[in-house]
Amino acid sequence: MLTELFTRGFRFARENPQILYTLVLAILIPAAFFWTSEQFLRVTRENQDRLERSRIALLSDAFVMFSHERFDDPEYLEQKIKGIINQDNENIVRFDILMASGSDFVVFASNDSSSRGQLLAPLVGDGTAEQFAQARTHPNNPFSNNYFFAGERMLRTVRSLPDSQGELTHYMLVDYSMGDADRVSQKKMRDAYSILVLIVILIVVMLARQAKIIDYATLYKRLEGVDRMKDDFVSMAAHELRSPLTVIRGYVDLLGDLSIDASGKQLLKNIDMAAQQLNALVGDILDVSKLQEGRMSFKLESLDPAEHIAMVVDSFKKPAADKGLTLTYIDTPLPKISVDPDRIRQILINLVGNAVKYTPSGSVTVKTAVLATGRVEIRVSDTGMGISAEDQKKLFQKFYRVKNVDTEKITGTGLGLWITAQIVEAMKGTITVESIRGKGSDFILTFPPA
Ligand code: ADP
Repeated sequence: MLTELFTRGFRFARENPQILYTLVLAILIPAAFFWTSEQFLRVTRENQDRLERSRIALLSDAFVMFSHERFDDPEYLEQKIKGIINQDNENIVRFDILMASGSDFVVFASNDSSSRGQLLAPLVGDGTAEQFAQARTHPNNPFSNNYFFAGERMLRTVRSLPDSQGELTHYMLVDYSMGDADRVSQKKMRDAYSILVLIVILIVVMLARQAKIIDYATLYKRLEGVDRMKDDFVSMAAHELRSPLTVIRGYVDLLGDLSIDASGKQLLKNIDMAAQQLNALVGDILDVSKLQEGRMSFKLESLDPAEHIAMVVDSFKKPAADKGLTLTYIDTPLPKISVDPDRIRQILINLVGNAVKYTPSGSVTVKTAVLATGRVEIRVSDTGMGISAEDQKKLFQKFYRVKNVDTEKITGTGLGLWITAQIVEAMKGTITVESIRGKGSDFILTFPPA
């Protein structure tokens, strides 16, 4: 039972390392904060102690300096003691001058005059006895020690006051209340712990959110799986469509050889055109899945693109002429570029095909040039419907088609330019568009010299 719980916990932690990091943070951050706060408090207390000890030492020095001539005059001493306390030393709760009497000490002068003549309470285990012992062996040196009285920390300082013959007859005992100082640092501590609680709450909230993120991550993984399944299905379906399409086109070819009348020939032509369209669509879908999965292969060759451009331009002579368009290729000597010949033809077919498709009247021109950078430029220009600046931004996105009155009757998938851009990029080329709506478009390819 316990081992199963442990294994499950271990598996969960391995699968969701984010949770572990957060847990570690949830423990480490408050622990570090707690540790630094404690250190800070300790150092502050030590500093405060040191400060108060030296203050009392100084104060006792001053007292001795002003009073040592009159150690036999309790009235005078008490007046001096009260003077010191009134001068911003309200935290002194007891200031006694004691006289040694055998092993006891009698109050000779005090801030509390009524205690004059009383015996000092027996020295119990609060460290005072040790302080007196030290004061005896080190005349005139103050010895301080902490003890608690009514829940408050007291700093007790004891010092011997030798007379002019060096006899240790008088002692000084000062109790300084550290209550105020402690209350201030306790308040600081309370503030620090409130921040700590806030931090812990924040981390817990983060943890809760993290759990949500894990849900999203699982969902995302599942969606990715579904997406992959969809891609696989589309690619398989497209593949399977190819064979019957080839058969249909084959039969259309065979029928064309038979002696059939003109209307029959027209019907056959329509079937062939539809089959060609379908074939192109299937080709596009297969290309998209190949590009997405990085399965498209490129057989790069160092070649002069001129003959391939001429080939593509020639293949569009008839469709262009059918629309009354002039299609021209303006040739120029070019350096070789490193591209796949089939793929360069494929992208040119897409661009020249689009130019013819989206140009109702006028001309389509393919022109080449060598740029100052040495790159080869192939520019496909048309005098067609053009593309607005807004549409140009999204033109190379998958499935993007411009929607307006001019394009509504033209069919297409919005895949051609995406495929073209991917192939161009894979062959280290660039593709850009320059267009004015209603005037025409230029699609510009550039490739580095081989
Ligand atoms: P399709 O032609 O199948 O719609 P493409 O990806 O080839 O897809 O083109 C995307 C869109 O870009 C087209 O729908 C068309 O609106 C616009 N387009 C492409 N080429 C041209 C062009 N030469 N002139 C005007 N618009 C064009």
